[in-house]
This record gives sequence, structure tokens and C-alpha cells, in this order.
Amino acid sequence: MRSWSAPDIPSLDALGLGRGPAPQVHDTAAGAARELDPEGTARMYVCGITPYDATHLGHASTYLAFDLLQRVWRDRGLDVTYVQNVTDVDDPLLERADATGEDWVALAERETELFRTDMTALRIIPPQHYMGAVEAIDLVVALIGRLEEAGAVYRVDDDLYFDVHADPAFGGVSHLDAAVMATVFAERGGDPEREGKKDPLDCLLWLAERPGEPSWDSPFGKGRPGWHVECSAMALHHLGTGFDVQGGGSDLVFPHHEMSASEAQVATGEPFAKAYVHAGMVALDGEKMSKSKGNLELVSRLREAGHDPMAIRLALLGHHYRSDWEWFAGDLEAAEQRLARWRAAVERPAGADAGSLVADVRDAMSSDLDAPRALTIIDEWAATEGTDESAPATVRAVVDALLGVAL
Ligand code: ZN
Repeated sequence: MRSWSAPDIPSLDALGLGRGPAPQVHDTAAGAARELDPEGTARMYVCGITPYDATHLGHASTYLAFDLLQRVWRDRGLDVTYVQNVTDVDDPLLERADATGEDWVALAERETELFRTDMTALRIIPPQHYMGAVEAIDLVVALIGRLEEAGAVYRVDDDLYFDVHADPAFGGVSHLDAAVMATVFAERGGDPEREGKKDPLDCLLWLAERPGEPSWDSPFGKGRPGWHVECSAMALHHLGTGFDVQGGGSDLVFPHHEMSASEAQVATGEPFAKAYVHAGMVALDGEKMSKSKGNLELVSRLREAGHDPMAIRLALLGHHYRSDWEWFAGDLEAAEQRLARWRAAVERPAGADAGSLVADVRDAMSSDLDAPRALTIIDEWAATEGTDESAPATVRAVVDALLGVAL
């Protein structure tokens, strides 16, 4: 599937500023910060959208977090192989298409294209491999075959289920107990109550063809993939095992990332990812922003209203990626004022020496992507007068390279 166009990213090293430190990032599975400093190339998988509605600020905030991690890695001098999926066939998409009478393929294509446009406007670094579930059916079928060989697959009617306890490490991402898992599983698309399952937590690998729904041929009969196995298959195909980061919103910790990891681990006998990194949830009107509740603020709506995408990006950067926070319209007004102050500051013929600013912003961003601290550092520089004629250009490059804001 076509990705979106990449923003230009200045190299601070090429500007004589050297390379930045390795990132320390909070790993949900370890419950602690972890240094992510691979040799040469960092490998990252971030779970993508189900394209049945437009990109809201919760999505934007999540993909921005992993964009920041990429920027720290690149400033470190690493290449990054980045994979993201599009769940372009799944129940919520088919249900929406059914409700509105629209063709599900057309709906998915339209919303995926709007997502690309939003990501481009926000200067989010695109994945090299952007892959739809429909494109990945062969990969999914092959992975289910490996799980069958491992004795971890069974049938309920004509559907295939994964035996989660085939993975001795099951539970190692979320560390939830079985009762909480069952509750959360039911809330997030799982079917703990289905009769015939060996364990309530076993998850669907292959849904046999249902009347009126799309399906594909497979050795196990016509059907379509379950959600978790889609990501296991794509990540293993493009990144292999033991890749650096499996990422997404915190609502994916369980069941999605737990299940994806276990499926991959049973199929390969090796750990899936080194770290599991999760972005917080964004609320509006006192509740988590979600399609099902309808309390959304859309990136596209803000853009159409004439707001500078760089101000939207700055408004999101004002919140630490791991925190849960609430969006208020005032956030955007404050970000627009900050953007104007920064733009005026880098247009000055000279400014305060930026040597410590470069080190301080790098320290903030490599310390679990602390963007709010980085914003404060830039604010202080912008509010200070100085005589260093090279400083404005240096600050412009740092803000672009590490925060992704074009001034
Ligand atoms: Zn996923």
C-alpha cells in the first residue's frame, strides 16, 4: 500500500552539532525505562488505523510519539525500518459500511487517503512499509500454518482459534491477571463467552466466511484474518523477531499487543519485540476520544478551519506522550501564539548562544521523549536576546530535526 511523503529532516551532525544520545523509553512489558540503542538500524512496528472514520487527535498524538522516537534515533545516526499496518478489513469497518450503504473498499480507501493527508500535514515520518490487512492475507495464512504445526490452533465450528497458553510468556506484555484480561478482552473486540473455546482468552485467527461479508481462499476454507494475527504476520515478515519497538496507543496493550506477541513467539520460538511502547489516550468533553462515543476532534476539521498544522503539532507536543490528557480549544490558541513567538525569534539576526540548548533538547527528547520539557527550553531561548548570529539557524534546525516543527 502506498505510504505518504516524507518531510525533510535536517541532519544536526551535518551542521557540525555531532550526534545525539541513545533514547531511554518506557517499556510497558518491563515496567521501566529501557535504552534502545541498536547497531546501525532500529526496527519499529506501530499499529495503524482501522479506516472507517477520519483521523482524530488521539491518533495524531500516538503517531507523533513514534515520529519523535524516530527523530531521536536518526539524530543518533541510526537508520530506521518502520512498518505500519492498515486494518482494512475488520468488523468495525464492515459494520460502518453496512450502516451507511457504502462499499467497504471505497470507505477504507477514502479514510486511508485522508489519514495520509493528515500525517503529511503534521510532518509525521511515514513508514517504509505501509501494508493493508488485505495485502497481508498470504502472510497471515502462512503464519497460521506455522501455528498449526506448533499445535496451537483449534477449531470452533469453522473458525480457527489460537491457544494463548501455548506461549509460556503469555501475559508478559500487560501483566494483567486472568479475570481482568477476560473483562478487557470482552470490551475490546474479544469473545470470552463463546462456547467451544478451550480458554476464554483464546483469540480468533481466522473467521470463516459469513454471508454477505468478504472472504479469501485458504487451506482452512474461505474466510478472513483475525486482527491480532494480521500484525504478528506483518511485523515478522518485514522486521523479523526481536525488533526494537512494538508501539501503539495504550488501549492496545491488552489484548492486541499481548496476543500479537504470543502468536509470533509460538510460531518462531523467539521473543517478538524488545520493548512495548504505548501512548496515552486523549479525551474530549471529559471522556476518551473515540469513534464509538462520537466525541472526536479531527485533524482534517482543524486544518479546514485554517489552523496551521505546525500549531496542531505543537499543541500535541505540549503533552507528554505517555500521559492521558484532555483536549481543549485553548490548547490550539496557545500553540499558535507559541509558534508565532518561535518564528519571530528565529527571524532575528542574532540570538542567545544555542550550545546548551542543543544538548538540553537532546537530553529531554532522549529521556522518554520529553517534548514538554523541550518546548520550555525553546521558549526560554526565544525570550532571551543575544548576539550569536548563528543561533537562530541552529535553533530552527533543532526544532525541525527533533520536534518536527518547521518554523
Ligand atoms: Zn496491531
